[in-house]
Amino acid sequence: MPSLFTKIMNREIPAEIVYEDQFVVAFKDISPQAPVHLLIVPRTEVSGLSTLPEGDGDHQHILSAAKKIGEMLHLEGGYRVVINQGPDAGQTVDHLHAHFLAGRPLGWPPG
Ligand code: 5GP
Repeated sequence: MPSLFTKIMNREIPAEIVYEDQFVVAFKDISPQAPVHLLIVPRTEVSGLSTLPEGDGDHQHILSAAKKIGEMLHLEGGYRVVINQGPDAGQTVDHLHAHFLAGRPLGWPPG
């Protein structure tokens, strides 16, 4: 069964896609926690960071996409990139993804 995010990437479920390349797709979170709240999702389905195979480049592609999105959206004030892994971190969708948050001061540490 394709994941919810794969269905979004395949345009089977609507979402506002703001960036895509060969490796990742980034779209607006349905329940934004900041003025800018995107999900950066590798095209390859991996359930989470803990199951990312050793040597896989997905994590690098997530980070390079985040850098490009920050430049594209002129977020000179900064942004935060977060990966929730597992139930203690609040992961709800089992397809590796990073949250890209910006547009307001972001408290630290996160809750
Ligand atoms: P997680 O909790 O797994 O780290 O993040 C999953 C994120 O997916 C949540 O922030 C949630 O709001 C978002 N989400 C869940 N369902 C949908 C959907 O159908 N469309 C979009 N765009 N985002 C979704």
